[in-house]
Amino acid sequence: MYLITNKGVVVIDTPWDTTQFQPLLDSIKARHNKNVTLCIATHFHEDRTGGLEYYKQQGIKTYTTKQTDELSKKRGMKRAEFLIDKDTIFNIGQYSFQTYFPGHGHAPDNIVIWFEKERILYGGCLIKSVEDDNLGNLSDASVKDYSRTIKNVMDKFREPKYIITGHNDWVDTKSLRHTLEMAEQLRKTSQMSDE
Ligand SMILES: [Zn+2]
Repeated sequence: MYLITNKGVVVIDTPWDTTQFQPLLDSIKARHNKNVTLCIATHFHEDRTGGLEYYKQQGIKTYTTKQTDELSKKRGMKRAEFLIDKDTIFNIGQYSFQTYFPGHGHAPDNIVIWFEKERILYGGCLIKSVEDDNLGNLSDASVKDYSRTIKNVMDKFREPKYIITGHNDWVDTKSLRHTLEMAEQLRKTSQMSDE
């Protein structure tokens, strides 16, 4: 997702495919005649952080949380130049948005981004599209906490108009409830197998 402001363009999460880092910048420039000035990655996996170093080299201010940076360092992922160590409000040009860490779900460090005025929730990989019939890559997920984490997002950000998922179609805002149901199912299934 990207946000066009009168102080440049904000990109949330980077492409995964290394051949797409520059074409993304070029297409934004061609469409809007503006440069990308800031980039935030919402967890440490490569499909979020892959382009951070490339974008830093292009003079873009790159951000992740401290928690993401620690995991990126440990797991050999690309790292941001600037770190935030708690939920943060960014004021860029005429827009404002906030980061929120709701707990461990898809990854230990997953954050979401909320645009209060526009009521847009950027969920990243934490929130699955209604097209998805499972929670996807669970290699760093918390089976136990995932549903609690989704509830935290629901409690904090009421009635989002749009919910942007990490992958696949995002038009249907039932994605949050759909993800909660899958997370609850996952927890129940794992409890049963523990017994
Ligand atoms: Zn991920």
